[in-house]
Amino acid sequence: MKAWRFHAFGDLRLDDVPEPHVGPGQVLVEPLCVQPSVTEAQLAFGIPTLAYDRVQRRLETEAPVQLFGHEFCARVLATGPAVEGYRPGDRVAARAKLPCGNCVLCRTHRADRCRAGPVIGFDLPGCFAERGLLPAIALVKVDDRISDSEAACLQSLSDSVAAVETAGIQMADTVAIFGQGSMGLECLQIARLSGAGLVITVDVRDEACQMSRELGADHALNAREIDVVPAIRELTGGVGADVVFECAGGSPKQGLAGHATLRQAIDAVRSGGKVVGVSWFGGPVELNVDLLRERSLRYLFPDISTRGHLEHTVRLVASGRVRLKPTITHVLSGLDCVPRAFEITANKGKFRAINPAQVILKASGGP
Ligand SMILES: [Zn+2]
Repeated sequence: MKAWRFHAFGDLRLDDVPEPHVGPGQVLVEPLCVQPSVTEAQLAFGIPTLAYDRVQRRLETEAPVQLFGHEFCARVLATGPAVEGYRPGDRVAARAKLPCGNCVLCRTHRADRCRAGPVIGFDLPGCFAERGLLPAIALVKVDDRISDSEAACLQSLSDSVAAVETAGIQMADTVAIFGQGSMGLECLQIARLSGAGLVITVDVRDEACQMSRELGADHALNAREIDVVPAIRELTGGVGADVVFECAGGSPKQGLAGHATLRQAIDAVRSGGKVVGVSWFGGPVELNVDLLRERSLRYLFPDISTRGHLEHTVRLVASGRVRLKPTITHVLSGLDCVPRAFEITANKGKFRAINPAQVILKASGGP
């Protein structure tokens, strides 16, 4: 079968690889729609971010190697021995990070916290291929009301669900969200469902502010036009927001906001409030910890998303409580388009993309 393999950073080739054979606990799938995550797209071009060292090591010792492709919708072709709950024809999505099954956390009913297991696309081949072989424990069924394109976003949406859960929003809390890319727009919608009161969003693009209003922001501030920290303080009676999500930071080369939005997030949150760090900065960040200590701030990072988060995510999208379609801006067709999807996703600012670029590999006839 055909599969995209990395021969080095930036060297992606469509190779013939052996047909995968389904074993115990495994499911053979046919990918229908797949998208690179932003992290994968940056790593594809050798841009330092999460898991860079791990990918570099695999490329140096094992290349060519099938990397990435954990955000997908696929159709089940066959199931291996000891697999229950899936049948050929079912549509599935997956969580990326899996429990190891052996460590003390896994053996004491805390497998959701295990970080020793494999990650799809990093340790196991993902879905940038004609067929994929996946552990059944990674999968969830996709509801009939969800399109293939929306289903390919479920994994990343479940990370936003976990991020909002980490924030522990209380009824009527004021929430500010820096950055209205895909995760910012997802956190906005999930925060509203989680009891947020006033929701204030920040971006530097008019179209992102407009979409943010459409998806429920009470105030969408354009940071190119106004000084956002005083504006958030004014909207919150001079106190600051109870919870701030920082979803804008990262390398300016990829159209992201550098470190400035983290400082703004800290200045915009009330004393005793919480800043949830969703961004990856790609390197060390200078931070005045004494300021956090003095103001009793909580700087939190999202928990990894669990099977429970992913199942909840399926319900949120199937019931229309979270809307994904407006954020899907670039849809390509055919396995040949995969490198183009990486290019667009690594440079979302330049291409005016919100969600990562998707590649439809096969139409399922879904909604
Ligand atoms: Zn474990």
